[in-house]
Amino acid sequence: MFWWSIAFCIEHRITKDGGVATPEVEEIFDDILERAKALDPANTRKWFEKLAVLHFDGGLLRIGCPDEATVQFLQDNCKNSFTRSAQQITGHLVTLDFSVDATVRPSSEDRRYQPSLKLHPDYTFDNFVVGPSNRLAHASCIAVSQSPGDTYNPLFIYGSSGLGKTHLLHAVCFEAQRRLNNAVIQFLSCEDFVNRFIRAIEEGNLAGFQSQFRTVDVLIIDDVQFLREREHSQEEFFHTFNALYNNGKQIILSADSPPGKIPSLEERLISRFNWGLVTRIDPPSYETRVAIVQKKAHVRGLNISDEIAGYIARKVQANIRELEGALTSIYAVATTTGQEIDLELAQTAMEGQIEATFKHISITDIAEVVTSHFDVRLTDLQSKKRSQSITEPRQICMYLARNLTRHSLEEIGGYLGGRDHTTVMHACNKINQAKDNDPKMNALLNELTKQITHA
Ligand code: ADP
Ligand code: MG
Repeated sequence: MFWWSIAFCIEHRITKDGGVATPEVEEIFDDILERAKALDPANTRKWFEKLAVLHFDGGLLRIGCPDEATVQFLQDNCKNSFTRSAQQITGHLVTLDFSVDATVRPSSEDRRYQPSLKLHPDYTFDNFVVGPSNRLAHASCIAVSQSPGDTYNPLFIYGSSGLGKTHLLHAVCFEAQRRLNNAVIQFLSCEDFVNRFIRAIEEGNLAGFQSQFRTVDVLIIDDVQFLREREHSQEEFFHTFNALYNNGKQIILSADSPPGKIPSLEERLISRFNWGLVTRIDPPSYETRVAIVQKKAHVRGLNISDEIAGYIARKVQANIRELEGALTSIYAVATTTGQEIDLELAQTAMEGQIEATFKHISITDIAEVVTSHFDVRLTDLQSKKRSQSITEPRQICMYLARNLTRHSLEEIGGYLGGRDHTTVMHACNKINQAKDNDPKMNALLNELTKQITHA
């Protein structure tokens, strides 16, 4: 793409022409996508090729997406890399806008759904690898998403962290919405349920809260172990459960342990949770892990040989999230060095310096450096306080934990006062942007990183 053609496109307010972007604009957009992939390989997806330019006038680039889940994913994860890429390619300041456009169709699934559900586009049944460790959980999720309220009610899935519970719950939402056009689905983390309950009491709007949860067709609550020791919330949840169950509505729950092992959970809830089907997810076998690595690579548009997938699967055994982390490291090294992904590169990425640096950093180390720099207390970062003097160090802490450790968004949010993953994502995006736009912030982050890594 020559500079004059870019300048031409920008100066002539090129928009969609009869529903189709001009070849020049499409070419620029392809370049922007390529650059964005290089800037942030971990958040690259194969379906980027399905995105379309709706409008491009030099200052504003509107990107059409097939569904809300895609819009949400791009906004949360890719806005920064896309913006930087667009600016580098065009040499202009570009503002991005992602929106659903009816002309952009998803590849295989029609994913109409309530935007409020906040689903992750990767977490579909298509992208879930089935093996002996999760076969029953998967089959029961398929069954309830096909005919909610008719088969297993409630469906209770439990297993350790990182084994795919949340992924399956999102997949149920996608599938149930696809099959049952008008079904009202509520999907939220248990923490969110508890927080909304508390807010409803504070605002004197308990009736509103109750009608919101007691009138749905499917209620899906993730991580119900969060109810432990929360007596009021347990009471409220008990009544919600009864109302739905008595009306034949589907209830799906997940937790890190079976109902009877959740500490301080009321007996009447334990017995209700056991009424339907309780199913466990175990750590995946070697073969399943290989298939998961291959699936994850495929979703990102990466080719990975059986040898490398096998190597990763042998190295990482317990947590599937870490399999993804390994893939991300390998991809990142391949992109920065421009090398082909081979066994040697995989070994370097997983055992080399990057891993060695990351391995010994804990979130506590990060919190220590951040609290001492800003002269705040850890309890403040973990509290509900929202003053600027606390919010900024908290967000910086989240950003650094995300970049220097392998903790998930959920784990980071949990450590910093039980915040949910979208809060952490928002913080990371905000600090990332500040880093790009404010040299002082950039210097501060470099300094803190140095102290944390003892570099
Ligand atoms: P949990 O909720 O049990 O802690 P998640 O659902 O968040 O775990 O899964 C962690 C990561 O592992 C997600 O990226 C998810 O897509 C992936 N994952 C887990 N199980 C599978 C599977 N069987 N196939 C594909 N990906 C999986
Ligand atoms: Mg989960």
